Amino acid sequence: MRYTTEEVAYVQPAASVQATQQRTTAEYRALDAAHHIHPFSDMGSLNRAGSRVIVKAKGVYLWDSDGNRIIDGMAGLWCVNVGYGRRELSDAAFRQMQELPFYNTFFKTTHPPVIELSALLAEVTPEPFNHFFYCNSGSEGNDTVLRIVHQYWATQGRKQKKYVISRRNGYHGSTIAGGTLGGMGYMHEQMPSKVEHIAHIDQPYWFGEGGDMTPEAFGLARARQLETKILELGADNVAAFIGEPFQGAGGVIFPPSTYWREIQRICHQYDILLVADEVIGGFGRTGEWFAHQHFGFEPDLITLAKGLTSGYVPMGAVGLHDRVAKAIIDNGDFNHGLTYSGHPVAAAVAVANLRLLRDEKIIERVRNETGPYFQQCLRETFANHPIVGEIAGTGLVAGIQLAQDPKARRRFENGGDVGTICRDFCFNGGLIMRASGDRMLLSPPLVITKEEIDEVVLKAKKAIDATAQQQGLS
Ligand SMILES: *Cc1c(COP(=O)(O)O)cnc(C)c1O
Repeated sequence: MRYTTEEVAYVQPAASVQATQQRTTAEYRALDAAHHIHPFSDMGSLNRAGSRVIVKAKGVYLWDSDGNRIIDGMAGLWCVNVGYGRRELSDAAFRQMQELPFYNTFFKTTHPPVIELSALLAEVTPEPFNHFFYCNSGSEGNDTVLRIVHQYWATQGRKQKKYVISRRNGYHGSTIAGGTLGGMGYMHEQMPSKVEHIAHIDQPYWFGEGGDMTPEAFGLARARQLETKILELGADNVAAFIGEPFQGAGGVIFPPSTYWREIQRICHQYDILLVADEVIGGFGRTGEWFAHQHFGFEPDLITLAKGLTSGYVPMGAVGLHDRVAKAIIDNGDFNHGLTYSGHPVAAAVAVANLRLLRDEKIIERVRNETGPYFQQCLRETFANHPIVGEIAGTGLVAGIQLAQDPKARRRFENGGDVGTICRDFCFNGGLIMRASGDRMLLSPPLVITKEEIDEVVLKAKKAIDATAQQQGLS
């Protein structure tokens, strides 16, 4: 059954049950402090300072409970690719909840939204990707990747290929497997028990770790750490390498141009699956549908989440290269699943989201217009800035490296503090810009206009100027 526009209008929820701001900011803060543990937060100091209460959003703007308007330079958490307030997505969720709010896909059943989504993903992903497994987040996606990788090698009669290699300062989520794959030391410290058979190599972060090498030579050197690690573990014991095409949470670190081709060569040479964690890079961020297309390599598995639904509802997925899919399909039970694998409401929202990205040519605009404009504005604005060492990025994602001495690539000794100071200047100036140590990160909704880009860059400049002044370096 299809609803007409009138019917949808008729079954709109009554105004009285629509979310409205029902309490004062002080009341919200008190209740939040009393009952809510936030992710990745120091709750003691957060509760003393009080959280900012975000109450609504439209396009690229957020509003807090005091009525302040904030431009969202982070698309939520790298996810609201089509911007806030798109009726197409909320209507899709509403209709699907009325029609079939839930049914499972475990026991010989399926449903139209997950079928449509799978067909659509096969259309928008590169050619060898025609099969998709669903979950609820990027973390679960990477857990699923591990399951698929191990099952794949088992079907090849090579069960001893167990090790998965990832990178320090990579981010792959916060489940036990995601956290172990990731290379965030602060997470590992609080996680005494880890998934076995995961090894790490160093990141391709030229500004911070490249020493006297050219970026190209450094990119090769860091890629060859993979070869060294494979030889150390024994190629017969290594199942896969996983990496974000560019590191997101680690600081929007773009690898040198030589890096991915060499990684791919090594994976092929030693018969190791190559996994691209596309949770941030996917769905248009770089101006291509997927970031591995920007970097020009061909993974065997891709992890998807965030932009898959533009964050309107939770959903993750893993895309399987035909070669891997065939092995999974042809070899009996695959013993993995989540109650909400392929959840109909999430799938319906994902379909609406992908259609918007495709039909409104949002990604083409990022590639041809807004992406180049954003990169150019940032590079011009921060050329010769007293504390900006480099601008990394392409399309609508950028990392701004703060540095004590930019020309000498000398970083701040208190890098994390400087980043936090800068982030707080942004917050108070009406811009969401995230800090990762001494790098400031921008990743706005893909629908951002040139005027809105001007606003982001101007506000970022003001905050970084204020940070320089505060450090006595302006
Ligand atoms: C956010 C992120 C994840 C984890 O996704 P969640 O939905 O938070 O579990 C995994 N990989 C990358 C690259 C991410 O940025």
